[in-house]
Amino acid sequence: MNAPAPLAPLPFYQPLGNEVALFTQAWEQGMPVLIKGPTGCGKTRFVQHMARRLGLPLYTVACHDDLSAADLVGRHLIGAEGTWWQDGPLTRAVREGGICYLDEVVEARQDTAVVLHPLADDRRELFIERTGESLRAPPGFMLVVSYNPGYQNLLKGMKPSTRQRFVALRFDYPAAEEEARIVANEAGVELGLALRLVQLGQALRRLEQQDLEEVCSTRLLVFAARLIRGGVAPREACLAGLAEPLSDDARTVAALMDVVDVHF
Ligand code: ADP
Repeated sequence: MNAPAPLAPLPFYQPLGNEVALFTQAWEQGMPVLIKGPTGCGKTRFVQHMARRLGLPLYTVACHDDLSAADLVGRHLIGAEGTWWQDGPLTRAVREGGICYLDEVVEARQDTAVVLHPLADDRRELFIERTGESLRAPPGFMLVVSYNPGYQNLLKGMKPSTRQRFVALRFDYPAAEEEARIVANEAGVELGLALRLVQLGQALRRLEQQDLEEVCSTRLLVFAARLIRGGVAPREACLAGLAEPLSDDARTVAALMDVVDVHF
């Protein structure tokens, strides 16, 4: 007999407010959750942490502008044996009573709303048009979606009729001490170095650079910290881990490095 697979360790997550309790409540009551917040602020890590904490399988889908309802629900495939049906991640999560997490949901095609709406309200039902099957989601199932409100344009905003089906949580970059604890833990660096990086990150976020599509995320601070821990000189680490990922424009990168030079 095979020994059971060891349980994956609980992914580290530094809570920033009452999100753990709210998410747990929503799950217990069968309500879907929407998480809004800038890129790299911990949305995905939070969902991974909660799935493991609640003991639920997690299916994560990175949404893109070509993602259709069929990609979520499943499709018929043709193999040597003929045609067979393959469940998509949403259908698997429903069957197994797990979490289906749709990252950047506003990127997905509009036809996905047709399958998400009946799952996100009292019906908790998934209708698989191609097979004629109708699945009622078991109590464990939870739909979680996230998006970055900063990215939205008029065409890609989340429709109010969709948004109003969710319990919504707003995430943002943590306060300096909390963010330093995250960076220290994730990169395995001393708290002092983590705090310096976080202060640099905060200064970079204050820059109102027209050319910057993204602000400096916790993820980038973790990258820079890891490079430093690996032996890269701090300035080089900040160039490769922070400034270059933030902009393609050489002048903007130089301006970001001026801020780096004040801190390192
Ligand atoms: P996104 O909001 O884009 O989904 P992620 O969840 O992938 O961002 O976060 C990016 C990285 O930042 C994570 O891999 C983790 O290292 C770190 N991070 C951000 N916030 C937290 C947090 N609250 N607790 C632990 N790690 C965090």
